Amino acid sequence: MPPAPRTPFELLATAPGSAARLGRLHTAHGTIDTPQFMPVGTAGTVRAQRTESLSPAGATMLLANTWHLVQKPGLDVIAAFGGLHRFMGWSGGLLTDSGGFQVFSLGEHATVDEDGMDLRHPVSGRTSRLTPESSVAAQRTIGSDIGMVLDHCVASTVSEAVARAAMERTHRWAERSLLARGDAPMGLFGIVQGAVFPELRAESAAFLCALPFDGFAIGGLAVGETKAERELHTGAVAAVLPTDRPRYLMGVGTPLDLLEAVHRGVDLFDCILPTSLAQRGRTYTRTGRVELRRGVYRLQEGPLDPACICEACRRYSRAYLRHLILAGEPLGWTLLGLHNLQFWLDLMARIRLSIREGRFLELYSAERQWLDRTDEDAPVVVPRPKRRRSPPPESLGRWTLHRSAGFAGAPPLVSIRDRESGEVMHSVTAPHEEARALYVDQPGLLAHAAEAEAPPLVVWDVGLGAGTNAMELVHAWEGAAPTRAMHLVSFERDLDALRLALAHHHDFPRLRHAGPHALLETGEWRSPRAPILWSLLQGDARDHLDTAALPDLILWDPFSFRVDAPLWQRDTFARLRRRLGAHPAALYTYSNSTAVRLALLSAGFFVGPGVATGPKEATTVAWSGRPGGPTFGAAWLEKWARSSQRWPADLPESGRAAFERELRAHPQFSGGDPVS
Ligand SMILES: [Zn+2]
Repeated sequence: MPPAPRTPFELLATAPGSAARLGRLHTAHGTIDTPQFMPVGTAGTVRAQRTESLSPAGATMLLANTWHLVQKPGLDVIAAFGGLHRFMGWSGGLLTDSGGFQVFSLGEHATVDEDGMDLRHPVSGRTSRLTPESSVAAQRTIGSDIGMVLDHCVASTVSEAVARAAMERTHRWAERSLLARGDAPMGLFGIVQGAVFPELRAESAAFLCALPFDGFAIGGLAVGETKAERELHTGAVAAVLPTDRPRYLMGVGTPLDLLEAVHRGVDLFDCILPTSLAQRGRTYTRTGRVELRRGVYRLQEGPLDPACICEACRRYSRAYLRHLILAGEPLGWTLLGLHNLQFWLDLMARIRLSIREGRFLELYSAERQWLDRTDEDAPVVVPRPKRRRSPPPESLGRWTLHRSAGFAGAPPLVSIRDRESGEVMHSVTAPHEEARALYVDQPGLLAHAAEAEAPPLVVWDVGLGAGTNAMELVHAWEGAAPTRAMHLVSFERDLDALRLALAHHHDFPRLRHAGPHALLETGEWRSPRAPILWSLLQGDARDHLDTAALPDLILWDPFSFRVDAPLWQRDTFARLRRRLGAHPAALYTYSNSTAVRLALLSAGFFVGPGVATGPKEATTVAWSGRPGGPTFGAAWLEKWARSSQRWPADLPESGRAAFERELRAHPQFSGGDPVS
C-alpha cells in the first residue's frame, strides 16, 4: 500500500459535463480550497504588497521561488528565523518551486548535467549549484508546506529527442528528490514534462504516478507554445493523473487560462501577472480590461471596478490610480496589484461556488466570452477617436434618471423615474435613508442579525427596483458581524432600473458593491464578508408567492396602486396570508393608503401604523401572527366608517354589508392596544 500523503487532498465534487473539480488540500498551514490561485511571492514578498493584505483578498497559499531566496537573503538568514513563514509574517500555506525553471529563464547563464545544474546570477555573476538533493534541502529550510522536485525544463519548441532526454532526466531527479525528502513533513509534487509531444507527456505522467508523490504539477508549459497547444496538453495530462492527488499548472496564467485549465481538471495555479501587469497600469475588471495609462481615464471619478471590494476600488477613483501609475508612484503598483490579485482570487471563488452548486459549465460559458474578449493574448484593438468617453445614457427601457431638489431642504436627490407612469422610486427623501428607516431600523434588522442558533432570516424584497432597499440590508448585515445568516429574496419584473443605476454608480454610491453585479449576472450572490445569500426571482411577484422561501420579513415596495394595482389588492394579500399559514411574519410597506390597509385587514393580517417617512406621518405594518407593535383600533374603524371612499374598488355594492361585518369582527378590533 502506498504511504499516506503528507498534504492530503479531498475531492469534494466534479462538475457535470466538465473535468472541473472542487477539493480541499490540507497543509500544516491551513486548508486550501481548490481550485485555487497562489499569488507569487518571488523573494519572500508579493511585489509591492504587504503580507497582511493577502489573506483579506482571499489568498490562502503563496508561491515562493527557491533560487531567488537562496540568492537573497540566503538560506542562513531564513534558517535563523525558523523558516520563511515567520520571516515574512505569513501564516498561510506556502508552496516553493525547485529552482528548475531558472534554467529556462536564465538561458545562457545556466548549464545542466546529470547531477544537477549551475546557475549564474546575471547581475552578481556568482554561480550556484542546484541538485535534486540541495533543492529539496533548501525548500525544507524555507519551511515550505509543499515542495517541487527539481526538473529539467526545456522550451516547448525543442526537438522530440531533446524533449525526451530532458524528461528522462526529470524522472531520475524525481526519484532522487523523494529520497532526499526522507521523513520531512513537507509535501512533494512530481512534475510532468514532455514539451508538446503527447506520447512523452503520457509516458511522463505514467512514470511519476507510480511514485509516492503528494500531487502532480504540469510543467514546461507557458514557455513558447500556443494557447491551443497548452490547453490540449493540460487536458490530456490531467486526464491521466490520479483523482485523489492535487494537480498544479505551473506559471499559468491569465484569468481565461485559469478558467480553461479548471475546466480541464487543474486545481492549483500561480502566476506573476496580477502584480506585473499592475506596474504597467493594466487591470482586469468585471466589465473588461482597463488600461489605466489611457487618456480616457484622466478625469474618471468612478472606482476602477464597481463590482470589486478591494481597497483600491473602495477608496480611489480611476483618475487617481491612473495618476499614480503615470507618476511611477509605488502606491500605484500596490493598489493596482491588490486589485488584480482580488480579481484573480474572486474568479477562483466564483469558480468554486459554481462547482459546488453544479453550475460550473454555465459560469464557464458566460465568463469565457468576456474574459476572452479582453484577454492578454488577444487584446481587443478598437481605434478610438481622441475624446472623452461619452457618459452612460440617462435612460434605459422604461426608466430614466431623476434629479430633484431634496425634501425640506435636504440635498438634491438622484433617483429612478418610471417614464410610463412618471412615478419616482423613493421620491420623498434620500433613497437609502428612507430604505434604512423603513426596512432596516423599523423591523429591528440588527437585532435579528445578533440572534444565535436561529435558522437563516428570510427577507422578501418585493420590488427590487434600483436595489436601494436590498443594498441597505446587505450593508447593514455586513456591518453587523452577524451570528445569524440572512437569505434575501428579491422579486423583480424589469431589471433595467438596476442596470441603469449601476451604469451611474457615481450617483448611487450605495450600489458600489459586488452584490448587485453578481445578482444581475447569475441571479445569486453570496457575501464573502457575512453570511448572506441574495437571490433574484424574476417575473411577476405573484407567480412566486407560493414557492419562494417562507419569509420572516416582507418589504412590500412595488410601485404604487396606480402603476401596479394587482400587487396591492385583496386577493394578492389573501394568497400571501394563506401561504404564511401559522408562520409569523411581518410586512412593511411605504403605503399609508386606507385601501391598502383594508386589503391587508380583510386578507387576515393584523395591521398598524409604521414609522413616518418624509412628509408621510405614518406608513403601514402588517403581521400574520401576534402583532409586534400597535394596531389600529376602534377610533380608526369609526373614522373609516365615516369616510366617503371606504369600499375597495373591486367590491360589488351587494357585498358591502358583509364586508363591514367581517371587518368589525376582525380580532384586532375586539381587543389589543388600539391607537387612533
Ligand atoms: Zn478592486
